Amino acid sequence: MKVTKEAVFERARSGLLWAGNLIENYQGSNEKLETRTPIDDSIIGFIADGDAQDVDAAVSVARKTFSDGCWQGLSPQERKQVMLRWAQLIELHQEELAALDCVDAGKPITECLNTDMPATIETFYWYAEALDKMFGKVAPTGHQALGLIVHEPIGVVGAVLPWNFPAQMFAWKVAPALAAGNSVIVKPAELTSLSAYRMVELAYEAGVPKGALSLICGLGEKVGEAIGRHRDIDIVSFTGSTEVGRLFLKYSAESNLKEIVLECGGKSPQVVFEDADLDAAVPHILSAAFWNMSENCSCGSRLIVHESIRQKLLDKLVAALAEWKVGDPMDETVSIGPMVEKAHFEKVKSFIDLSVKQGANIVAGGKIHSEMGSGWYIEPTIFDNVTPEMSLFQNEVFGPLLAVSTFATEEAIALANNTHYGLAASFYSQNIHRVMKVARQINAGTVSVNGFSEGNITTPFGGFKQSGFGGKDNGLEAFEQYTQTKVIWMINH
Ligand code: NAD
Repeated sequence: MKVTKEAVFERARSGLLWAGNLIENYQGSNEKLETRTPIDDSIIGFIADGDAQDVDAAVSVARKTFSDGCWQGLSPQERKQVMLRWAQLIELHQEELAALDCVDAGKPITECLNTDMPATIETFYWYAEALDKMFGKVAPTGHQALGLIVHEPIGVVGAVLPWNFPAQMFAWKVAPALAAGNSVIVKPAELTSLSAYRMVELAYEAGVPKGALSLICGLGEKVGEAIGRHRDIDIVSFTGSTEVGRLFLKYSAESNLKEIVLECGGKSPQVVFEDADLDAAVPHILSAAFWNMSENCSCGSRLIVHESIRQKLLDKLVAALAEWKVGDPMDETVSIGPMVEKAHFEKVKSFIDLSVKQGANIVAGGKIHSEMGSGWYIEPTIFDNVTPEMSLFQNEVFGPLLAVSTFATEEAIALANNTHYGLAASFYSQNIHRVMKVARQINAGTVSVNGFSEGNITTPFGGFKQSGFGGKDNGLEAFEQYTQTKVIWMINH
């Protein structure tokens, strides 16, 4: 039965939401953790407090399922039918899933409904449709042998997720890994486990064997580390902070040298050249900087603008930003909800204080709405006069603070690349020669020209430098990263 967003909001107010572990034939302990909404910091439900024993149990059924072949052994057409049914169920229940992410993460309901859920649904359909169209290769051997290059599922995949796009990040990892035939164990972020629980329930309803997909909720230091260190998990796909990404490399090195895919943080530049179409650029610049309260890995948090157009651009940005309403994310007219939790709010606030102290000046926003709900509501804020030495220029804030710096001649690219991250970038120019040159010079996994975009499901998404490596989300590349390449060499006597 379809559940409306109002019904989810009501269950949240009554503290009745729940995300438990889903592991075939395994109960585990009944320990649980409170889950609160950042909207007003009230308890909206509980999640399982998973542990290393739960991870052991999930790995054991995942391995058994992989060996039995009841998922990977299906024909691609059969697996596709199950994945398509799952996509249809997610589509049917999209309003419920959107509302769960809204109350869990404080994301504006309008964005959950109009951006996150369409992208999530598209991801499930796309990998369902892709899975029976993946071909291997035949090597150019001549007559003496037949060399087949085939792609096989890897085995047991651990997927460790962040809290900023709960349903969408689940889709980015789980859809291609499962479509490729692996057994998947997914660990959502402890702050946002509700939509993942519902999506795994829907997977079972669609016919995904329980052993092929397990959910373990709980803390990173308990469940995440146990996944990272487990000796019978073959690959971990991680999205989260660079700091925790580093830990996963360590866990792997100290256990079974499992493959690690890292999708980590960013400090993405937006470069505006003097020949840019400013009116067309403004909505893109603001969206890159403030979409999802800037709790976005590809957030364009550094605006690098030619000094000749700085004031004109700032005036336009400040005027357009006045339309961005801060408030309760359940309200459909709101574009900026609260920060996801108190500790994160404090961190963002400390960046405001430090940036002012270091000499940057606020030209828009800057106000903290302590009178609203939890009090963790920060206006989208533009800082001018930010220099490369400042913390705001170098460090990922993950909150609504845009750092503006200027350039005079050729130093725009050096400024853009002056970061240890390399996830995304955008730049604005109407000069085709400059566009072709700069797109190659910027050191980032996704470079968008005259607009902000992360690409779409057809294009691989992932970073350079300390934004991650080891694989990509989206595109056929994501499907391939959950397979391993084998050569079958047949000798002709
Ligand atoms: P995080 O690193 O704190 O947590 C991510 C996941 O790791 C969570 O499931 C968490 O429980 C787990 N974890 C935490 N500590 C752990 C530990 N010691 N051992 C094992 N697992 C542990 O990240 P977050 O705060 O949830 O998300 C924000 C970060 O994610 C930002 O840095 C953002 O840039 C990044 N991110 C990157 C992408 C991308 O595609 N590159 C997308 C979204 C978010």
